[in-house]
Amino acid sequence: SAKDLGRARFEVFDRALGARAAARLQLEQDLREGIGAGQLRLHYQPEVRLADRVVVGVEALVRWEHPTLGLLAPDRFLPLAEETQLIRPLGDWVTAEAIRQAAAWTGPQPPTMWVNLSPYQLGDKDLTARIADQLADAGLAPGRIGFELVESALLDETDGSHDTIHALHELGVGLALDDFGTGYSSLTYLTRFPIDILKIDRSFVSELDHDENNRESYAIVNAVVGLARALQLSVVGEGIETETQAQALHALGCQTGQGFLLGRPAPAAPSRERTVVSAVNAPTGRLPNDGFA
Ligand code: C2E
Ligand code: MG
Ligand code: MG
Ligand code: MG
Repeated sequence: SAKDLGRARFEVFDRALGARAAARLQLEQDLREGIGAGQLRLHYQPEVRLADRVVVGVEALVRWEHPTLGLLAPDRFLPLAEETQLIRPLGDWVTAEAIRQAAAWTGPQPPTMWVNLSPYQLGDKDLTARIADQLADAGLAPGRIGFELVESALLDETDGSHDTIHALHELGVGLALDDFGTGYSSLTYLTRFPIDILKIDRSFVSELDHDENNRESYAIVNAVVGLARALQLSVVGEGIETETQAQALHALGCQTGQGFLLGRPAPAAPSRERTVVSAVNAPTGRLPNDGFA
């Protein structure tokens, strides 16, 4: 009967839901153990000066080497970490490891290390103190590192993120606004927070390719660059995949670029840390292969 069919459907639905909840719980337990067991990795993606393609910065991007599922991208486990309390140990590991790696990149002009912070991390009132300790332990000057925030982190001022952002600035680290143009933040936030860099979201950059329909994207990138200049911020173009996009951004006054064209995220090569630095500082046109690719 229809009633039996309905019940059967409900049971299937219920079982599927149960299985999903169980899988989620398993992943949470795996992550809890994995953080302690050294399964997190950082991959590093270069940020290059578009004028001469010299590497000026590096963004640290977390991955998880899951024992059975393989290397997982952040979208597979960051939301889970944020919903549980795991974002704190995960974030602490990321900042410590990025700081350790940045300290290992010595040389006359080592790249700035950029680390992503989620809004959940900014709500932690002890975050800045722990980062200050990590910097001191590694002997790294605060100016060698910066943090990437998303616009939504600037919206909620009741959760302590406002204080954290100002404390980080006081510490002397750089601050960048990630995925700029995709959020809901009012432009007045740019004057109320000590932001140094705007990272133009990939969605605008990818549109710069098409010759006919790109007027709007040109206009948007042009406006962002103009806004940044007026506020004395610098601009990074994200997600550059073609030479056309790189050249269009440069022509529009965007100083720095990042994307698969210029370098993919990759593990650092520990035994070649010195090679990385000399490659970074080599006058290029050419990209450093060692450590980044
Ligand atoms: P994001 O900070 O905007 O990082 C850029 C993302 O775009 C990275 O993905 C990168 O691999 C990818 N990407 C870079 N260039 C290109 C390109 O030319 N084309 C395309 N299609 N993609 C490109 P990933 O590594 O999967 O990271 C995704 C997001 O996860 C990051 O976006 C960031 O919001 C977050 N995330 C990554 N690592 C961390 C971390 O350690 N802590 C926190 N809180 N968030 C992190
Ligand atoms: Mg980022
Ligand atoms: Mg981004
Ligand atoms: Mg993004």
